[in-house]
Amino acid sequence: MAYFNEEMEASIDAIDPKIGELIKSELERQRTHIELIASENFVPRAVLEAAGAVLTNKYAEGYPHNKYYGGCEFVEEIEEIANARAKAIFGANHSNVQPHSGTSANQAVYFTVMNPGDTMLAMRLDQGGHLSHGHPINFTGRLYSIATYGVDRETETINYDEVERLAKESRPKIIVAGASAYPRKLDFKRFRAIADEVGAILMTDMAHIAGLVAGGVHDNPTPHSHFVTSTTHKTLRGARGAFVLCTDVFAKDLDRIVFPGIQGGPILQIIAGKAITFKLASEPSFKLYAAQIVKNAASLSAALAERGFRIVSGGTDNHLMLVDLRPKKQTGKDAVKLLGEAGITANKNAIPFDPEKPMITSGLRFGTAAITTRGMKEAEMTVIADAIDKVLSSPDDVALRKSVRSKMADLGAAFPLYESL
Ligand code: PLP
Repeated sequence: MAYFNEEMEASIDAIDPKIGELIKSELERQRTHIELIASENFVPRAVLEAAGAVLTNKYAEGYPHNKYYGGCEFVEEIEEIANARAKAIFGANHSNVQPHSGTSANQAVYFTVMNPGDTMLAMRLDQGGHLSHGHPINFTGRLYSIATYGVDRETETINYDEVERLAKESRPKIIVAGASAYPRKLDFKRFRAIADEVGAILMTDMAHIAGLVAGGVHDNPTPHSHFVTSTTHKTLRGARGAFVLCTDVFAKDLDRIVFPGIQGGPILQIIAGKAITFKLASEPSFKLYAAQIVKNAASLSAALAERGFRIVSGGTDNHLMLVDLRPKKQTGKDAVKLLGEAGITANKNAIPFDPEKPMITSGLRFGTAAITTRGMKEAEMTVIADAIDKVLSSPDDVALRKSVRSKMADLGAAFPLYESL
């Protein structure tokens, strides 16, 4: 019995030093590397605390005031607060904060309005869309008939007349607006007009831009969409998870699909993290943060263009940019490796009409949400663009990568992360 209690009270380091050590190494990596992955961010300490809270011990299947288990009085209040805050920020009629991930949130909406064999119209994965928008290996590609829209070859932006034509041709049950790698603003009003014209439901997946919407630097899709889905951990800077917003008419059906349709018990410590995320995202300081993300992205993209990189669509309106590496005679795959060795973390990404295979690609996707959280501004964007240019222009120079790595670590040290950990 004594042994059991000792084990219960012991730290990770005492119980499992290997995992403890790996967690510390990851913290050190986050501190010393320049994080440019557009879907990543650093959550506030309060969100980390919530994610590690005793709420993990609780089962709370069902919805507040109608839970299947006893002892839910505190956790259901947390869930209600999270829903109320989400609705207030985005101006929604109904919110469900139980989806464990962005993919589950999308699945919940698809299952609410579609039957297997129905058609959905969404953005092509190789031009910015997400796997859960119809990729053949994803459940969406297996269950539904997929029609896709992409970007215009010339402008590399969405041609809404073409989306309208495709919608009329494919007569989808649902149209998906939203992307993982689209650097421009989305015209939700136009998407809704197209959906209405063909009698489709409009679902906006704002996973990437939710923080920009909350901060008032991107149009809000909620008034124009039947459903809005989002992750909580990208620009919104919160606990890793997701939520769905919808109009009242869909509320009951959506809730029934989330639970018991596709999930069991909600992850309550993460729902507490989401509640805190929404609280922080509705504060005035978050508006400044969102505006700085966009300024930093514009600044990084301009600095890269000055150094000879081609920026897809000529720039960015949001937190991310797609960089065409062909002028530098690099592939995305090689560039990620070279930058990684130099202390800069990014991901390869297909550019529109990419001649390379998806595992190679001609592009990189960069985002500024995480470095903006660290406090970096326009001046640092120039330093980072310079480092990227140097490393990718001299792929054989191992010593250069080593020296850039140490410079990036110094830059990181000037913008401390999680000092209290
Ligand atoms: N939707 C979009 C637009 C995304 O970019 C992502 C993730 O990158 C998702 C959904 C999926 O989120 P998750 O990884 O939580 O399933």
